[in-house]
Amino acid sequence: MTGSIAGIERFDSPGKGRGLRVTKPFKTGELLFSTPAHSYVLSLKERGCYCEFCFTRKEGLARCGKCKKAFYCNAKCQKGDWAMHKLECSALTAFGENWCPSEISRLVARILAKKKMQKERCASEKMLLIEEIQSHEEDVDNEKREMNESDIAGLHRFFTKHLELPNHKDLVTLFSQVSCNGFTIEDDELSHMGTAVYPDVALINHSCLPSVIVTYNGTSAEIRAVKNMQPGDEVLISYIDLLYPTDDRNNRLRESYYFSCDCQECKTKSKDKAKLKARKRSDPIEPEVISSMVRYARKTIREFRAFKQIKTPSELLEMCEQSLDEMGAVFDDANVYMLHMMYQAMGVCLYMEDPEGAIRYGEKILKHYCKLYPPYSLNVSSMYLKLGRLYMGMERYSVGVTALKKAMAIMEVAHGKNHSYLTELRKEITKK
Ligand SMILES: [Zn+2]
Ligand SMILES: [Zn+2]
Ligand SMILES: [Zn+2]
Repeated sequence: MTGSIAGIERFDSPGKGRGLRVTKPFKTGELLFSTPAHSYVLSLKERGCYCEFCFTRKEGLARCGKCKKAFYCNAKCQKGDWAMHKLECSALTAFGENWCPSEISRLVARILAKKKMQKERCASEKMLLIEEIQSHEEDVDNEKREMNESDIAGLHRFFTKHLELPNHKDLVTLFSQVSCNGFTIEDDELSHMGTAVYPDVALINHSCLPSVIVTYNGTSAEIRAVKNMQPGDEVLISYIDLLYPTDDRNNRLRESYYFSCDCQECKTKSKDKAKLKARKRSDPIEPEVISSMVRYARKTIREFRAFKQIKTPSELLEMCEQSLDEMGAVFDDANVYMLHMMYQAMGVCLYMEDPEGAIRYGEKILKHYCKLYPPYSLNVSSMYLKLGRLYMGMERYSVGVTALKKAMAIMEVAHGKNHSYLTELRKEITKK
């Protein structure tokens, strides 16, 4: 690890390579450790909502006088960010509308700038251990290789003024490292705010039955126990959305992280049956009908992802409703593929400012989310938050407060009682 953390040690996890384990007991909700990002970047779409330097969310941020595109709490934050923002500030003005590097290129530029600064500052000291992170270059398929190439091209196009770029081979390694070890920073409703690298958190292995959860406080990552841990227990997070059945989870893990999981849930598949629940009918549905509907569902999910970029909201909503009709002939409402499409439909309703539609989907989703996700899940708390805030907006205060309190109960464990999200939430609840 980059430094020693009390109660945590590195070890060789059988079959997994490096990992972290605890050397003392931790209780549910207890903080194992908090760690600053090695490098981070705010998403372009969040500019103006958050401070670029400390990721504080507030109104009335001050903008950079030069490019007028970056926003800060105050002069101190602006000064703190300058070493990173200068990589973009003049280019933003020079390229104007044509300035369009990917988020990963922007992050890699920052990693390179940071490495250079560290080298200059402490040539003899040990460098931050980003070199140690796995890259899995040999496993990268053609599609990903092309993506990496276009990200590298973006780096050459938009960042060469302030950076001496390493050779192509080293850049390929760096991009591969960042794409399997980068963390998406999300807000309380799981909306994407930015991307960061946390070398210590990258040491934590995956399990579908995680022992800890990662949340973000400003630009730092915080790791809290979601079950009581005993000395010797491995620190395990989930790299993926745990809603889906075992085969889907493992496909996702292989595609993005190049391994399969062998946790207890992957071995027993104990939740798969509930996750793939079929409709109750007097004549039981043939297994072939179910498996062909699963194929249809997976295809629809892929198509929907691609269409999101190009179709209008009403076309997207129609697609959701059509697929829900089709699947609803075979699947129960509790089936995760139904829930997936309802979740998408809810997102479209929110985008179209149709709170009633969003509430209708949200209520159906939540009923089953609570059973299918682990007890402390950000997917569940963020859904309670969205729904609670929708109710409050419709002046349905009593159901609103109930939902927000359910979110709070999860977030007190996942985010810690003193997180600013909880302070905000307490205000929302007592306002009415
Ligand atoms: Zn700030
Ligand atoms: Zn600027
Ligand atoms: Zn697993």
